[in-house]
Amino acid sequence: MKIKKQIISRKEHSVARDDISNNALKVLYRLKDAGFQAYLVGGGVRDLLLGQKPKDFDIATDAHPDEVKSLFRNCRLIGRRFRLAHILYGRDVIEVATFRGPHEGKSPNHADQNEEGRITRDNVYGSLEEDAIRRDFSINALYYNIRDDSIVDFTGGMADLNNKMLCMIGDVETRYREDPVRMLRAVRFAAKLDFQMDQKTNDLIMDLGYLLEDIPVARLFDETIKLFQGGYGLRCFQLLREYHLFELLFPMTEASINSSEHEGRTLKLIEQALRNTDERIATGKSVNPAFFLAVLLWYPMHEHKNHFIEHGEHEMEALLSAGREVIIRQQAHTSIPKRFSLMMREIWHMQPQLQHPTRKRAMRTLSNKRFRAGYDFLLLRNKVGETELESLCEWWTAIQTKNKLDQERMCDALGKGQKKPGRRSKRRRSKTGSQMSHAASNETNHTATSLANSE
Ligand code: ATP
Ligand code: MG
Repeated sequence: MKIKKQIISRKEHSVARDDISNNALKVLYRLKDAGFQAYLVGGGVRDLLLGQKPKDFDIATDAHPDEVKSLFRNCRLIGRRFRLAHILYGRDVIEVATFRGPHEGKSPNHADQNEEGRITRDNVYGSLEEDAIRRDFSINALYYNIRDDSIVDFTGGMADLNNKMLCMIGDVETRYREDPVRMLRAVRFAAKLDFQMDQKTNDLIMDLGYLLEDIPVARLFDETIKLFQGGYGLRCFQLLREYHLFELLFPMTEASINSSEHEGRTLKLIEQALRNTDERIATGKSVNPAFFLAVLLWYPMHEHKNHFIEHGEHEMEALLSAGREVIIRQQAHTSIPKRFSLMMREIWHMQPQLQHPTRKRAMRTLSNKRFRAGYDFLLLRNKVGETELESLCEWWTAIQTKNKLDQERMCDALGKGQKKPGRRSKRRRSKTGSQMSHAASNETNHTATSLANSE
């Protein structure tokens, strides 16, 4: 890649100060007034040039982290591998990074790489130009200068932006080896911006994807959330699968997608959940990562559940064991923070309660703090064709619209003239695992029909 400095004056580009958040402007002004260089860079500039709303604002400066800290009371220094300053305004965080420079001849205290070429420490400071070539893609290396509102471009990012191209800066293989997460970022930006990758940026992902296995699982979890909860989750998911990266992040899910066991429902469930997630994000609604993680691992969890049933556990017990097991196994690939794994298990555990509502239990299920998530999950399962959930979904939808008295009436009606759902005959209990799941789904049929009748 040729390095050629171009300065695009304010008249020639579309980024206006008014589009930049007040907090980011405050940081830029204070750095500038203290005599430092201060640029808006990364997604902030890229997205504004594309007429999109930036997710966050990142700032680059020649001030060292300690100098940044001394300028802002609300500043925290974070990261060992890559030291950064976070300026906190309530929940809004402005990230300030000191210009990075080349590693040659630097001590491992500041710059280090492992045998695969992965950068394990990146705290060598440099000039603006050096900083530009250490960034990932040319469209992410455009610098908006707060001094004169111009944009500085060293790597042809402006042209790539206009041509809708995603191009890695420098030697692509070296850059992927330095930080394999750049492959996930490539997929995310290609999906979000609907950009084409240049040949090498594209092709080498297939060859080097395996390097992701060496990345700390907590970082992979963070990236996974950005991929699936960034508003373009479905497209990201499809691209991840095309590039064979999804199987590295969620091997059990990929195996389940490819198995004949669930009649293609694993894929359908994921795609439908992502469609819903993207739609919610587009309309400004919140999304909880635990719900989607519960979707990703639902059918793998079932496969484990059947295994536990075959080893003599009862349905509910097997569900608990399988939930625990599948989460532990997933954590070898992406971590799952406890608050999310707890909620995933709550969503799963609520499914049999929703499928077999009893007079005594239904009101309790309704007042469970996870009811909404569990209910949405049931609707999703129904939507992808899991057997005989339709009437149950209707019943749970209806009960939410009723007042307390009518809700109790609906629950009372469950107890009348019906075979108690969830109770199995002795003969059935002695059946094998797969027969038992079949028996359980027959039971659901029965419940569903009676529920429909009772309404
Ligand atoms: P968004 O915030 O919309 O996800 P972004 O491009 O701003 O996109 P950030 O993760 O906020 O992404 O990073 C800010 C900038 O830091 C990037 O635009 C890029 O210039 C640089 N950067 C981030 N991660 C890497 C990386 N792994 N390798 C090289 N440069 C990176
Ligand atoms: Mg950003």
